[in-house]
Amino acid sequence: MKERLYLFDTTLRDGAQTNGVDFTLADKLAIARMLDQLGIDYVEGGYPGANPTDSELFAQDRHLKTTFTAFGMTRRPGRSTSNDPGLAALLDAKADAICFVAKAWDYHVKVALETTNEENLASIRDSVRAAKAKGREVLLDCEHFFDGYKANPQYALACAKAAYDEGARWVVLCDTNGGALPHEVEQIVGAVCKVIPGDHVAIHAHNDTEQAVANSFAAVRAGARQIQGTLNGLGERCGNANLVSIIPTLKLKKEYADCFDIGVSDAALHKLVHVSHALDERLNRAPDRHAPYVGESAFATKAGIHASAILKDPATYEHVAPESVGNKRKVLVSEQAGKSNVLAELERIGLKVNKDDPRIVRLLEIVKEREAIGYAYEAADASFELLARRTLGTVPDYFDVTQFDVNTEQRNNARGERVTVAMAVVKVKVGDDDLISAAEGNGPVNALDQALRKDLGKYQKYIEGLKLTDYRVRILNSGTAAVTRVLIESADEKGERWTTVGVSPNIIDASFQALMDSIVYKLVKSGAPA
Ligand SMILES: [Zn+2]
Repeated sequence: MKERLYLFDTTLRDGAQTNGVDFTLADKLAIARMLDQLGIDYVEGGYPGANPTDSELFAQDRHLKTTFTAFGMTRRPGRSTSNDPGLAALLDAKADAICFVAKAWDYHVKVALETTNEENLASIRDSVRAAKAKGREVLLDCEHFFDGYKANPQYALACAKAAYDEGARWVVLCDTNGGALPHEVEQIVGAVCKVIPGDHVAIHAHNDTEQAVANSFAAVRAGARQIQGTLNGLGERCGNANLVSIIPTLKLKKEYADCFDIGVSDAALHKLVHVSHALDERLNRAPDRHAPYVGESAFATKAGIHASAILKDPATYEHVAPESVGNKRKVLVSEQAGKSNVLAELERIGLKVNKDDPRIVRLLEIVKEREAIGYAYEAADASFELLARRTLGTVPDYFDVTQFDVNTEQRNNARGERVTVAMAVVKVKVGDDDLISAAEGNGPVNALDQALRKDLGKYQKYIEGLKLTDYRVRILNSGTAAVTRVLIESADEKGERWTTVGVSPNIIDASFQALMDSIVYKLVKSGAPA
């Protein structure tokens, strides 16, 4: 019998503290869905009541399997639970679980909270009780637990025990400063697990000594059964424990795989590279090539004696199989490695094709050529699918944009204010019909999008529910010239989402390609007749 080990993701809360990261509501929803599909048990969304984005996030029906968790403070010292607006917002949020943060270091209780040790314990008990009464699963984040334990073990334990005794599902031991070392974590978590059963103990490690992942495993060895972390190790300062490194270790290393079950399936593990890169694309940053398991170089071996040994038996130079996390070996004839990737992708999108079909090699060549000039199919699933369907000859020519024109004008309006207005005119041929549409927008791309989707004749009904949910631009330097890559995320009335890509030296042209792919993808998905 394997034990269940739980994973808790705080990319949207602690990860949002990363320098330069600022999630929109659309970002948060998309990342939450990705984590849900990955099989993460708990997704912490943020602080309801603390800012408009998080309040909106917690007001929505999100339809996720994961235990969606709200984060916030225990009741303030000297207040009752019924007279604390911050706590009220937290209790009212549409969340499955509430994670309270509380002081566990007596020094902080005195200096930061300016209250007594007993009042801090009472605040923990009262807050846990109030959340339980609201029907929420409760977690208590013991801030500075390890430093607190070193200074006053009795008091740190008392804080954790107060929450557990009051019915908190999890007591989270936080290495808030990130300075604890693995042997200390193992020893202290071991002491905690003598008082609180390990299947109620979680570890929350920060990476200030590059050991957040090691500290998480040290805690599991000592009995903790929940690991908290973030995608790609996002987080303030040096980041949080990186779930993208932790998950494959749990799944693929015998010591853990033999003992523990986690919510991430083998099939979901195959998508790990995709998940990691999709987050980077969203943050508009380049993936870390040297990231363990998922980096482009994680399974790259330079040619030479290693290469020939790898060709004979990959296990000779690889600690795990790269395919297990959706990565690829980089020494083999790249065409072979790439072909298996393309085949896996075709299977994922449900395109049946014989694996020896010569068109697959052609598709692979096209993907490589296009990625070399800036297309990013890893992030643009819908554009890849269209490319695959076109190469395999199965996308109808629904319509043809014969001409478009986009203008941006700055002028004074009737009230004498300076305004910038964009207008687009699009000529479309649908069957024998020539259609012309014009639209204004708050920018040239918005105007073009509006005009393009205004009248598609007999196809209009299929794209009525289509909306653009995100638009991202990155300037790439390929060779001597700079090109623009545009990624567009779209959604339909059923909540299905897809991403398309366009690349050009001209931002309007790149946007146009991505918009066209989005519309055509929607028509294909809807089964629109040719
Ligand atoms: Zn933290």
